[in-house]
Amino acid sequence: MRFSRYFLPVLKETPAEAQIVSHRYMLRAGMIKQASAGIYSWLPLGFRVLRNIERIIHEEQQRAGHLPILMPTLQSAELWRESGRYDDYGQEMLRITDRHGRDMLYTPTAEELVTDIFRAHVTSYKDLPLTLYQIQWKFRDEIRPRFGVMRGREFYMKDGYNFDIDAEHALHAYNRHMVSYLRSYERMGLKAIPMRADSGPIGGEDTHEFLVLAETGESEVFYDSAITELSLGAREIDYSDWDQCALIAREWTTPYARTDETHDQALFEREVPEERRRVSRGIEVGQIFYFGTKYSAPMGATVTNDRGEQVPVHMGSHGIGVSRLVGAIIEASHDERGIVWPEGVTPFHAGIVNLRQGDAETDRACEDIYAALTEAGLEPLYDDREERAGAKFATMDLIGLPWRITVGPRGLKNGVVELTCRRTGESEELSPELAVARIREIYAGS
Ligand code: ATP
Ligand code: MG
Repeated sequence: MRFSRYFLPVLKETPAEAQIVSHRYMLRAGMIKQASAGIYSWLPLGFRVLRNIERIIHEEQQRAGHLPILMPTLQSAELWRESGRYDDYGQEMLRITDRHGRDMLYTPTAEELVTDIFRAHVTSYKDLPLTLYQIQWKFRDEIRPRFGVMRGREFYMKDGYNFDIDAEHALHAYNRHMVSYLRSYERMGLKAIPMRADSGPIGGEDTHEFLVLAETGESEVFYDSAITELSLGAREIDYSDWDQCALIAREWTTPYARTDETHDQALFEREVPEERRRVSRGIEVGQIFYFGTKYSAPMGATVTNDRGEQVPVHMGSHGIGVSRLVGAIIEASHDERGIVWPEGVTPFHAGIVNLRQGDAETDRACEDIYAALTEAGLEPLYDDREERAGAKFATMDLIGLPWRITVGPRGLKNGVVELTCRRTGESEELSPELAVARIREIYAGS
């Protein structure tokens, strides 16, 4: 992408309404524009990041054997009356009446609708296990929408639902989700810690929230620092292997890690040596639930088991805050100059800064680098504007591309350009070919 052709409405001033750094940078970098309270338009740069996060989630869910579907945002109240949640949900549910006077609602989550799909088509245990998921907009009429996309009213969420024959199978589905979530967050460059949680309005027996550590997080968290050392890395994962999934889930759930809702100070002190006790704040970026037959029993979602009996299916639901993640990643990865995107979600793989726009040789070198990166399947952002170098650098730093290639007449005289790492600020002079090769290497396999 050429900057001169792009729509990147960068703000010079810090918007007064933004209280936290991710909100400030998202507005300043022209990623989003507020449409009304807690409702945002996604501008090209922000939309790219949202799409990248979404892609990682799709890939990891499908790797785990989960099937993508898409359900409507507007739903009839009828199904919600069947489960009893139409009255229970309270004012967070946006209720709408259509022209025929029928009660509708904007989906805050979709257990009812997916259970209805299930009961219409699945009758036998032989069709199980089944996990369906979607990435779709949700609406919750939050009393105090704030922090930009972190607590919106309309927000983008991955919601998945497993259907299993019994509690044992459902436990494997739970573990499978835990592992696939850990993998997804890791690919986004995040450490998200599973913490034992309260179940809230969805109701459940077993539930973990995934929290990203950040000072601006809304939850207080208590954890054993050992948990922050864990990583899946390049481990091969076989999602059909119950033991492997259970072992990984155990590895991540054994060290103490709880939010204030479930925190037990005595247990914390007993289990965790003092030097490893941490109290800080976290942002909830996902949650997994096992809730058994809570929806399937009242809604008649049953199958025949291997003894020919009709039994309600065991279910769980599993959410990831896709739009919230954009903010959470920035909270976890920024400095005083702007965002520092992890390679897994960056809107462009590298920036190219032309220090002397209009100088034939410099322009040509930039074009060559641009073409070489593009040919390698990468997406560079080429700042080809007639702007001062300082202004170009400031913009690149603000929008946070992990790698920058700086091209100027002085370097070119010696056959070199500069490759700069946004995170460390370290620069290296090398030939344009080597700079391209280096960037290709960094993104190889992603
Ligand atoms: P919270 O406690 O933050 O209100 P929740 O527990 O009610 O969230 P879930 O039902 O678990 O939310 O939804 C799954 C995920 O969707 C959450 O983990 C969170 O990342 C995201 N999410 C929930 N509410 C919002 C919101 N208002 N704006 C943006 N993302 C949200
Ligand atoms: Mg939650």
